[in-house]
Amino acid sequence: METLRTDVVVVGLGAFGSAALWRLAARGADVIGIERQAIGHALGSSHGVTRLFRIACMEHPGLPPIAQKSLALWTDLGAQTGEVLIEQTGSLNAGPPGSEPVAGALAAARTAGVPVEELDHAALAARQPQYGALGADDVGVWDPGAGLCFPEPIVRAQVEAARELGAKVFAHTLVTAVEVERDGVLVRTPTVEIRAQRAVVATGAWLGKVVPGLPLVPRRTPLYWFEPRDPGSDEFTLERFPAFIWQRTGGIGFWGHGSGDGYGVKLGLEHDGHVAGTPFADADEVDRYVHPRADVDEISTAVSEAFPGLDPIPVKLLPCIVTDSPDGQFLIGRSDDTDRLVIAGGDSGHGFKHAAGLGELLAQLTLDEPTYCDTTFLDPRRFTPTPTTH
Ligand SMILES: Cc1cc2nc3c(=O)[nH]c(=O)nc-3n(C[C@H](O)[C@H](O)[C@H](O)COP(=O)(O)OP(=O)(O)OC[C@H]3O[C@@H](n4cnc5c(N)ncnc54)[C@H](O)[C@@H]3O)c2cc1C
Repeated sequence: METLRTDVVVVGLGAFGSAALWRLAARGADVIGIERQAIGHALGSSHGVTRLFRIACMEHPGLPPIAQKSLALWTDLGAQTGEVLIEQTGSLNAGPPGSEPVAGALAAARTAGVPVEELDHAALAARQPQYGALGADDVGVWDPGAGLCFPEPIVRAQVEAARELGAKVFAHTLVTAVEVERDGVLVRTPTVEIRAQRAVVATGAWLGKVVPGLPLVPRRTPLYWFEPRDPGSDEFTLERFPAFIWQRTGGIGFWGHGSGDGYGVKLGLEHDGHVAGTPFADADEVDRYVHPRADVDEISTAVSEAFPGLDPIPVKLLPCIVTDSPDGQFLIGRSDDTDRLVIAGGDSGHGFKHAAGLGELLAQLTLDEPTYCDTTFLDPRRFTPTPTTH
């Protein structure tokens, strides 16, 4: 079997891995990327045409600088490739004042100095008449720099940019083992083995299979598309029904956005402020089938109440996977005391918007450069028990 030697090998070229490959190659590192599927495939976590892009990130006040880095990198990359990779059409967080979408977005905006507009109940109701049954005290936070980004073209563009900068890419190649050795890392595949100084492992829902012992849980989470009841209505275009997260009183909430050039009205469910989904012990066992009753009944009932102008039966449904970490933040950095492995995963359902910014951090961490923002809240070792001293 052929053995290749390189500075860094990146395992898994989805959102995070393709970004790491690109940012490593941009620094002149000798880098090889390996992906088990085609580049930009629909079997992991980075498919389904669109992702919400938010800057005032409700999930953690340390996230806005990472989203802003993605914005800058994708805007430049899109200008080079002539593709629209990100659209800044704004986004709305709605819910009771103490809910995560509202309180979390305001906290992140305050900490990171992100400009947002607060909407009281009357302003929210006037702006979004499509939202039926607003809670009596629901209010909104408008994030004007937010919008949508486009996962498949972004993953392909990141890989292509890396290739142009000299990275070698193996698609359709399953990594069967990543072994840490005294003087480097050995990455095994059925057709080629690679010896590198360091490895970035970004295998998404499969991260726990490649690096065992991580506290990660993959969950099957469908994406749904809907159409207005009145086919002539423009109430649900992106302009009038912008990207949003709405935490409704009673637990069930929604995220979604209106239709635009090349995409339809998209919605997903949230349970208690968290993307809804079914856990699987092994990502290879995630159910790929669509179940007309089990997948549709809950969201249809919720849509009839929340958005009466939409036909509650989805026109399309696509399974996707989120990978939860215990605290809902990503795992980015060294996973143990060896200096050889850097991991990237635990996306917890909100990682795509940060992919390019995380790729930059992964390149900096792998090459021992100072990072452009704080990463302690993402350090995988936060889940390692502190050794007891005697
Ligand atoms: C329904 C849904 C809605 C979402 N909405 C949003 C949103 O609106 N905004 C947002 O920011 N985020 C959102 N997310 C989250 C976002 O999509 C993820 O954070 C992001 O896609 C995670 O990327 P990843 O690189 O970790 O995983 P992936 O993109 O899945 O990449 C992992 C890659 O590793 C490869 N791989 C696995 N094992 C191996 C192996 N052994 N050898 C080689 N390759 C391997 C896989 O094939 C895959 O390509 C959503 C996710 C879902 C499921």
